[in-house]
Amino acid sequence: MPAMNSNDPSRSTGDTLDTAIVGAGVGGLYAAWRLLGCGQPPGGIAVFEASARVGGRLFSVTMPGTTGLAAEFGGMRFLSSHTLITSLAAKFGLKIREFTTGNSESIFYSRGKQWRAGDIAKKQPLPYSLRPDELYLDPFELIVKAVQRVMPSMKHLSPDDWVKMKESLTLDGFPLIDWGFRNLLGRFLSDEALQFIEMGIGYSAVVSNWNAADALSLVVEYTNSATEKTLVDGMQALPNALAAAIVREGSTLYHQHRLVSLRGPAQTGDGLHELVFATPEGPRAVRARRVVLALPRRAIELIGDCAALKEPRVAALLATVTPRPLGKVFVAHEQPWWRPLGLTSGRATTDLPIRQIYYFGTEPDRPAGATGHLTMGYFDHPQLDYWAGLRRLEQPAASGFTVLDPDGPVATEVRRQIGVVHGLDQPMPAPLSVGFMNWEEDPYGGAWHTWNQGVKSWELMKTIAAPVPGMALHIVGEAWSTNQGWVEGALETAEAVVGTLTRIPAN
Ligand SMILES: Cc1cc2nc3c(=O)[nH]c(=O)nc-3n(C[C@H](O)[C@H](O)[C@H](O)COP(=O)(O)OP(=O)(O)OC[C@H]3O[C@@H](n4cnc5c(N)ncnc54)[C@H](O)[C@@H]3O)c2cc1C
Repeated sequence: MPAMNSNDPSRSTGDTLDTAIVGAGVGGLYAAWRLLGCGQPPGGIAVFEASARVGGRLFSVTMPGTTGLAAEFGGMRFLSSHTLITSLAAKFGLKIREFTTGNSESIFYSRGKQWRAGDIAKKQPLPYSLRPDELYLDPFELIVKAVQRVMPSMKHLSPDDWVKMKESLTLDGFPLIDWGFRNLLGRFLSDEALQFIEMGIGYSAVVSNWNAADALSLVVEYTNSATEKTLVDGMQALPNALAAAIVREGSTLYHQHRLVSLRGPAQTGDGLHELVFATPEGPRAVRARRVVLALPRRAIELIGDCAALKEPRVAALLATVTPRPLGKVFVAHEQPWWRPLGLTSGRATTDLPIRQIYYFGTEPDRPAGATGHLTMGYFDHPQLDYWAGLRRLEQPAASGFTVLDPDGPVATEVRRQIGVVHGLDQPMPAPLSVGFMNWEEDPYGGAWHTWNQGVKSWELMKTIAAPVPGMALHIVGEAWSTNQGWVEGALETAEAVVGTLTRIPAN
């Protein structure tokens, strides 16, 4: 699903802008689109993107050997409670369908034993020595059990109630924000339960020691029965639609423009910012009255020359979140090897390095006209290293999105581990194609971010949105949001900054 190339210099309005937006991920594109919607002159707004495509961490690929199926190397779903993305999809006519993560047939494979999710409630023995009060609960129910010790009323809280509550909750006399989430779980659950949760949730970072108050927000959201959705044409259809709308309305989107230097009005002396971009044709300088950086933490830290962002107070602000790496591998097949096992959609979860295995192409609402099938391996630290090492073996210099050999070391090991997890008698058939992406690499530094222990996210978010007093410099994106790890977080921060810039009520 190619990104559009709208890098048409003839549409440039000259090199002095009202607003320069850096980063054409969903956050930057949404900020541009909303500014236009608020009546800002299109000629005064331009978006600059380092890569040759839009979407950033939304990256929907059609794998060779398939048609009409989005291999989502980045974000792949959203929650029914995410109002901004839901209304944007409606606005742009993007069709929504259900997304399945798990059901009672979902497979777990851990400590050399396989079982189905439904076996837990049927009181089948598991390979974990759980306490009597922890038995027969699935990994998420165990998390809820611990969280309810801090917040007995959590099942009745709306996300808005929860935002107010997280400022005041304490545990053992310490504010909740000072707790690490892993420590909080360990306060109420056994070591074995923690290991079961980490395996069964599928993401080690989710149960690591990030800010417990912000981690609990995620738990509250899922407890409120939010259902999972996705876009029929792939999640990247949203940034593609935003980019098309911006260009249609007369603004310019520059690809292959990587910000390398940013000087504020104090340095330029003319009340404007000076941005210098590395482009295939050499450096290009642009002047702008205000700048919106729609970038994750690592990308901001990579801007080599920017005194304001390197200033210790600002650097410390940016460092209040931790990038969390994730990697994905997709293999495409003609036949859905999982159907004979009674599986149609969702995932298996394991303690093997592949961690999560999703099946796509046999869902009841498979996109019309789609051909082929996809299996996705999905892993974070420490297992990401395992797969990065195998890719290095195959392609030592590769980085970013990589097409791999269907008979190479990564594909061979993926097929072996899928066989073990699912108890396949026959080796999996050779895939039609294989793709790999490691989001830890530059310029991302991670797939998502978590607020650090001890920080007040609700206060910092406002400061980070305009981190340098007296400078019309703004930061938007998922990294410093209340919906970290979600598109919704990027949209919310963009909405807040646009509201400030245009003095309009929030959308
Ligand atoms: C593996 C993975 C799984 C995820 N799962 C989900 C999910 O299921 N649901 C969900 O809602 N969200 C998910 N997310 C998170 C979601 O993708 C992000 O929250 C969202 O896309 C972030 O948008 P953004 O605009 O903040 O940043 P980004 O998408 O990171 O955009 C930043 C842009 O800036 C560009 N850039 C970087 N440096 C420069 C520079 N110096 N100059 C110019 N441009 C630059 C980048 O190329 C990029 O296009 C996932 C992310 C990943 C990676």
